Amino acid sequence: MSRAVPAVILLALFLAGAPNLFAQTSPFPSQDFPAIYDRLSQKIEKIPIYDNHSHPGFADDSDVDAMAAPPDESSVLRLRDDNPEFVTAAKALFGYPYDDFKPEHAKWLADKKKAAEAKGDSTYFDGILDKLNFDICLANRAFMAPYLDPKRFHWVFFGDSFFYPFDNRDQKASTPDMAVYIPLQEKMLARYKKQMNMGALPPVLGDYDDFVRRTMEDNQKRGGVAVKFEAAYFRSLYFSDPPREKAAAIYAKYKDGGVPTADEYRLFQDHVFRVMVEQAGKLKLPMHFHTAVGIGDYFSLRQGNVLNLENVLRDPRYKDTVFVLVHGGWPYTTEAALLTAVKNVYLDTSFQSELLYPSQFKVVLKQLLTLYPDKMMFGSDAFPFNDALGAEESFWIAARTTRSALSAALAELVAEGAISEDKAMELARLYLHDTAAKLYGDKK
Ligand SMILES: [Zn+2]
Repeated sequence: MSRAVPAVILLALFLAGAPNLFAQTSPFPSQDFPAIYDRLSQKIEKIPIYDNHSHPGFADDSDVDAMAAPPDESSVLRLRDDNPEFVTAAKALFGYPYDDFKPEHAKWLADKKKAAEAKGDSTYFDGILDKLNFDICLANRAFMAPYLDPKRFHWVFFGDSFFYPFDNRDQKASTPDMAVYIPLQEKMLARYKKQMNMGALPPVLGDYDDFVRRTMEDNQKRGGVAVKFEAAYFRSLYFSDPPREKAAAIYAKYKDGGVPTADEYRLFQDHVFRVMVEQAGKLKLPMHFHTAVGIGDYFSLRQGNVLNLENVLRDPRYKDTVFVLVHGGWPYTTEAALLTAVKNVYLDTSFQSELLYPSQFKVVLKQLLTLYPDKMMFGSDAFPFNDALGAEESFWIAARTTRSALSAALAELVAEGAISEDKAMELARLYLHDTAAKLYGDKK
């Protein structure tokens, strides 16, 4: 059915100037897109970045993560060390004098980093942040390092090891990747037990729950600003809400030995997870989740899909717990973005800014900016690749990719008539800095 608008009415509206009639968005950017892009990108360069997720540290510091890359894992094109962008990064940051990473050349860069590590003070990584115009950076590490300045680097500690107190032999045998990951979880749990002066596992589940709660509280006192879960690497992100007695029976059965079945272990973990969600709410400690495809050839896309978390994220009992979907769910970015409709759910775009080229990342950002732009945050996922290519170059790639992709996404929205340039800058400030600063209470 269609009803034509009489031409005389259209003409009247036109003659009246009716600006609203033409304040419409176009599916194509206008011709002044390049000029808009230039103006926005110059201003966006000047916004200091608050990095919601990174692993700063030197290559031989095993505390940069609570897990490690499995040997021989496949690597995506952009993250291979022959990516020429890494040369550009090393030149920009250190004046690297070569055009490739042949071993004899890469040594120049590795030596520079070894010297900084030997010096051991915090001016080195502060200097990297200054060069890239970063204000504050969340450091997702097993423990903090003395060479990171706590004023600039805030600690995000790990929560997964509490899921693995029993005999883990079946877990380790399940995939070659798990054989790498699970021993590191056992190591992390042993460190937490030592930290809390706990020897053997306590006799009843209630005491174990208490150990978990107290460790979280202690880590917060030690400077922890959030607790991070890499659970997507080890199990499904779907957490059921099991009856407490069932979990208590499983705990009693295996605390002194014996190998739990997969179902028993999962149910126990679901219980521990719920304890942690409640405690995080009480402590006002945001929970970070790895929500993207992961490294390793055995990462399960189905289990790691961010939608598995929906029952927890949309549970009104947990409205006081802040949840942050780290890596923004990639490749399920739309799903992740829609989950941030919940008031206490946020996301960051870490890892995407290293994995995706600016033209690809622009498309993701453009969508995020038009859904819940006040719930999304910058993240780098900077990580030391090897002795030569460090977290430093990784920060550089993430920052360059993000600033250019963000400028392009916003410039398109302006040039299509969707938002004004002022609004574009407001959204840029929220995403790059202000939303995170507010969430973690850093006023600047
Ligand atoms: Zn990470």
